[in-house]
Amino acid sequence: EGIYMDNNCIFCKIINGDIPSYTVYEDDIVKAFLDISQATPGHTLVIPKKHVKNIYEYDEKLAENVFSRIPKIARAIQRFNPEIKGMNIVNNNGEVAYQSVFHSHFHLIPRYSSKDGFE
Ligand code: 5GP
Ligand code: ZN
Repeated sequence: EGIYMDNNCIFCKIINGDIPSYTVYEDDIVKAFLDISQATPGHTLVIPKKHVKNIYEYDEKLAENVFSRIPKIARAIQRFNPEIKGMNIVNNNGEVAYQSVFHSHFHLIPRYSSKDGFE
């Protein structure tokens, strides 16, 4: 994948290290890091290193590359804390869908119980 960066994008700044983050997983295609505002403990964002706004800008290769990495990142988070009983994976596309950062990302939200605070 060609790595296209947007100078005004906070997630591109996280990728290139200009904004600090706690890295959960990283390779040539994706970075996974803790969300600054944890819906539940371990709330992680998985982002392509290529700047794409949302799902509409994925081609098949990028989709394959990004989606294929999500299960092992989910397992790594799971292994980190045996209290984790499940996980919601959420992807918001567009302002009306509550997307607030326009660099595509997948929320991995560990669940500890159905009453752990994430609606
Ligand atoms: P969205 O609402 O677009 O689906 O999710 C954006 C997410 O990015 C939010 O959960 C928000 O807490 C997170 N976020 C925004 N700015 C930063 C940041 O500078 N660092 C990190 N780690 N997360 C951020
Ligand atoms: Zn970006």
